[in-house]
Amino acid sequence: MAILTPATASDEYDVIVVGSGAAGGQTAYTLTMDGARVLMLEAGRNYDPRTETPMFQTSGAAPLRGAGNPGKPFGYYDATIDGGWQVPGEPYTNASTERGREFKWWRARMLGGRTNHWGRISLRNGPYDFKPYSRDGLGFDWPIGYDDVAPYYDKVEMLIGVYGTNEGLENTPNSPAGILLPPPKARIGELLARQRGRQLGIPVIPCHRAVLTRALDHRTLPARLHPGNPRAQRILAEDLQSRAACFFATPCGRGCAIRANYQSTTVHLPPALATGNLDIVANAMAREVTVDAAGKADGVIFIDRTTRREHRVRARVVVLAAGACESVRLLLNSQSARFPQGLANSSGLVGKYIMDTVGAGWGAHVPALEGYPAYNEDGVGGDHVYAPWWLYPEQKAGKLGFARGYHVEFTTGRSEPGAGSVYAEDAGNRTSYGLALKRESRRRYGADVFFVGRGEMIPNDDSFCELDPAVKDKWGIPVLRFHWKFSEHEIRQAAHMQRTFADWLEAMGATEVRRPDPDGRQAIEPGGSIIHEVGGTIMGASRAKSVTNAWSQTWDVPNLFVADGGVFASNADKNPTLTIMALAWRMSDRILAELKRGNL
Ligand SMILES: Cc1cc2nc3c(=O)[nH]c(=O)nc-3n(C[C@H](O)[C@H](O)[C@H](O)COP(=O)(O)OP(=O)(O)OC[C@H]3O[C@@H](n4cnc5c(N)ncnc54)[C@H](O)[C@@H]3O)c2cc1C
Ligand code: SF4
Repeated sequence: MAILTPATASDEYDVIVVGSGAAGGQTAYTLTMDGARVLMLEAGRNYDPRTETPMFQTSGAAPLRGAGNPGKPFGYYDATIDGGWQVPGEPYTNASTERGREFKWWRARMLGGRTNHWGRISLRNGPYDFKPYSRDGLGFDWPIGYDDVAPYYDKVEMLIGVYGTNEGLENTPNSPAGILLPPPKARIGELLARQRGRQLGIPVIPCHRAVLTRALDHRTLPARLHPGNPRAQRILAEDLQSRAACFFATPCGRGCAIRANYQSTTVHLPPALATGNLDIVANAMAREVTVDAAGKADGVIFIDRTTRREHRVRARVVVLAAGACESVRLLLNSQSARFPQGLANSSGLVGKYIMDTVGAGWGAHVPALEGYPAYNEDGVGGDHVYAPWWLYPEQKAGKLGFARGYHVEFTTGRSEPGAGSVYAEDAGNRTSYGLALKRESRRRYGADVFFVGRGEMIPNDDSFCELDPAVKDKWGIPVLRFHWKFSEHEIRQAAHMQRTFADWLEAMGATEVRRPDPDGRQAIEPGGSIIHEVGGTIMGASRAKSVTNAWSQTWDVPNLFVADGGVFASNADKNPTLTIMALAWRMSDRILAELKRGNL
């Protein structure tokens, strides 16, 4: 990859993009394929999944049999490098240590950011999700609707490759015919969950995930994605031919060396670099956006993490794509005489209304799944099926006690046993060892089912981040301080999740189902822990009530844009990344058009 040092970067670019994950990758791809000259600044190190992914290493060869540890919470082989719940030397703080008031912040410091190991679940927001306030009077409407974003969902799905089906369910949009790839078959536990879910009125349908279940069509897709741009078509056609289909065998969280799933580093950045229009400076910790005398953004100051030296780069447009909270931090740290409250903050709303996804889970052992012959159920490295939210009518009628829905993801099946598997499988007979333990493990392994709910959080005044007045990171940059609180809507929703899962497990014949605590405060995962941070620079129809307009363009500084989840005005139950990419593509088209018109 063409990774530059600060010294070899040019003096001036059309666009600087800060961050290289889903938002930065999509932005750089769209801009460079259309001829814009882009500099990407990435705080983490260079990373190439094609050579660095430990796809085939077995757990037994790793320390602690590959189990997670504080430095590698998702396991020894997980793709995250230099990141996690804590990044050494780069702290953040919480205003309160009270239970339920803390926010956990996951960061990845590497090229491609969190996309190297994310779960790849790629759901479209539905029409309701863009107009939640109009439906129930809570939170905010977006200034755009589903129809504005749908063409960009189509493009992103075509480019990255998403499997799934069109089921025509309420607020669960179909993709146009021919875009989705065929879904993998359900695993045995998923089939049982589907059958018993039906008895409870819960629909279980193929999941949508960014994994190639067959190779993308390099003959037709480039022309559909880049009409009238033969150079972009040729670059994409060549690139698609080197992306292989999934071979159903290795954990996606380690990354994918054959480029069968979506990572920014395997899907967005290679063709963008092939245009010759993209320069990347890794280890570049952006500190602030600079402005000229007229108040327009004119560049970015960053610290080279390898030399600790400060550098300044210039461009006509600046795009923040550092992850929702990190982009907030950059704006708040960009203070000047003209913008003493930080950049793009005339509304005072930068940092306000941060949201995560509501999470709660419940699992049990299902004897009906015991004793199958040993076989490989790795599948495509993640969920083959899921349950979209099914209680829209009941919720609208006010029968549930909480305003927004959740979808259900779940794990079942046999993949390579990890550390602790044997002990977990010995749950029914803790004294066994030797041959008895082996027999018991074989009988029980793969018969556990664990459901998790992923629900919508409504933005509230108590959940925000700001600069900590005292604490700085090792680069001397003020850090974020978080304030957090779930409302009763989320807490009741979490309790509903656990009740539903316990009922569902009982319907599946589970024998060891504990009944959940009715208090949702016991069920709900801490804020930030689902790692779907959005909000903080929300988009809206008026400059007094939002940070960006409908094009992700800051109201105050017309050549400054936010590409990440910061612009979300609500956080539907649907996992956010597909929407981040769709909005980034839409924003990039706007930047290209405005650059051509000379407006930026
Ligand atoms: C375990 C896990 C599972 C997930 N599963 C799913 C899923 O199934 N579906 C889904 O939709 N989402 C999922 N997510 C969330 C998903 O990863 C994020 O929504 C997505 O990556 C956000 O993209 P982004 O570009 O905004 O941020 P990131 O991908 O985090 O990229 C931001 C980049 O900016 C860089 N950066 C930050 N600050 C600076 C700075 N000051 N200067 C320069 N660079 C900077 C970072 O180093 C990083 O590389 C998951 C996340 C995790 C961790
Ligand atoms: S399961 Fe498929 S997509 Fe995932 S890492 Fe393995 S080959 Fe790649």
